[in-house]
Amino acid sequence: MTLYGGIEAGGTKFVCAVGSGPDEIVAEIRLPTESPDTTLGRVIDFFRQQQEQHEIAAIGVASFGPVDPEPESPSFGYITNTPKPGWAHTPVVPLLRDAFGLPIGFDTDVNVAALGEHRWGAARGVDTFVYLTIGTGIGGGGMVDGKLMHGLLHPEMGHIAIPHDWERDSFAGTCPFHGDCWEGLANGPALEARWGQPGETLPAMHEAWQLEAHYLAWGVTNIMMILSPKMVVMGGGVMEQEHIFPLVRQKVKSHLNGYIQSETVLEGLDDYIVPPALGSRSGVLGAIALAQQACERS
Ligand code: ZN
Repeated sequence: MTLYGGIEAGGTKFVCAVGSGPDEIVAEIRLPTESPDTTLGRVIDFFRQQQEQHEIAAIGVASFGPVDPEPESPSFGYITNTPKPGWAHTPVVPLLRDAFGLPIGFDTDVNVAALGEHRWGAARGVDTFVYLTIGTGIGGGGMVDGKLMHGLLHPEMGHIAIPHDWERDSFAGTCPFHGDCWEGLANGPALEARWGQPGETLPAMHEAWQLEAHYLAWGVTNIMMILSPKMVVMGGGVMEQEHIFPLVRQKVKSHLNGYIQSETVLEGLDDYIVPPALGSRSGVLGAIALAQQACERS
């Protein structure tokens, strides 16, 4: 059986797996994100060990960003100007290519998670949809007509502007670039800084969730207006508090105010704004799907 390598390269941890899909993972490790030399060295060691037992046809990488996902670009496969110390301008794909000589697929963590959800998860059979992650940051990717979204670089949906409700919320926002952009108002660190405790410790009835859902719904509403996705998958640490989903759906409906004449929206958003079916595994499984694509293209 042909196996593939998948790497979910996150700002706090790396997950590496070998397999062919959700039901066939033969090995997996989690590593803390330290320096590029240390962490990528351990990633390379892991796959070398795996190669002693399995034939690996290609490797896919779902990376934190910003990244250069453009195959024709001289810096393709680099993490570019990330503020994460030590990681700016890290040549992830060149290092892996030098180490293994295999086809390497590379994209943003959110695009790859979208691919995982499309292949095996909530977005099976849906050709135009968005995948959002609400956690330490807010990121968004997805597909248009079955192709992962790219452009000048890649979408940065977390950094759109949304109305800041100053009457209810005097918190200035956490984004180092924009202050109170969507990510600045609604990421996990904003939730914690505003209420003085981490989101997972706030009770479901706490007013924090009303405000959080209000802001999340503004972002989702804007994305719906721009891209007309057929589904919005919302993952990440903040969305693990699943009680927030009904609040977000209700507020999206209220922000839309009847404007979008689609049965899906008018008759309830329960099957439209959904958690990832692969849970926290969308990224690493998506990386395996990306490796399969890289193999087919090579
Ligand atoms: Zn921002």
